[in-house]
Amino acid sequence: MLYILPFLAVAIGYVISLFMKPGSSTGFQLLLSFSGAYLLAVTVFELFPNVYSSGVEEVGIFIMAGLLLQIFLEFLSKGVEHGHMHHHEDRVKFPFLLLFSLSLHALLEGFPLQSSDDLLHGVVIHKIPVAAILATFLLHSKIGKFKSFLFLGIFALMTPLGSWINSVYEIGEPVSAYINAAVIGIFLHVSTTILFEASKNHSFNASKLAVVVLGIILAYLM
Ligand SMILES: [Zn+2]
Ligand SMILES: [Zn+2]
Repeated sequence: MLYILPFLAVAIGYVISLFMKPGSSTGFQLLLSFSGAYLLAVTVFELFPNVYSSGVEEVGIFIMAGLLLQIFLEFLSKGVEHGHMHHHEDRVKFPFLLLFSLSLHALLEGFPLQSSDDLLHGVVIHKIPVAAILATFLLHSKIGKFKSFLFLGIFALMTPLGSWINSVYEIGEPVSAYINAAVIGIFLHVSTTILFEASKNHSFNASKLAVVVLGIILAYLM
């Protein structure tokens, strides 16, 4: 499951992109808000206690470093990880920087997954809308179907690869705590940005608030 679910999430995201317009569909926006709330809650309930009870010092620095890394990655990806993609230019060239940014993010988030099923579910739920946005962008770009699926395939393999590296090389403390701390920073940035952008213009949206509350409660109960 550890290796299959994150891969499946990308496939599900692709299928969703065939039926919904990620940019404008209300259902999609609700899915995105839910995924952000769930990811944030799982990070707070599962990852934080793990990292702070590891006994490793100065994990806080790595949390902040992870957050800064994610800001930099989103500069390259233009925000795919938290829910949108700008179609400003119709480039024919393969988007290597986008692939690099998303792959590094996906690789890192694969590392802590074997420690907790809840975290695995959180990442899977977060990956579905990301993959849908990415698939929509790629298949509407001019790079062609083959390269689009190649891109999605590489992206889909990254999180399982991260989990695999972690299990094969049995990365011990303190490095494991450092990586998990960096992933906390990454998740904090992604999830709070989703929640922030869900309430754009400070307009009150009852259904979005409802799915956010639902996401937090479900993450707590699981
Ligand atoms: Zn954004
Ligand atoms: Zn992610």
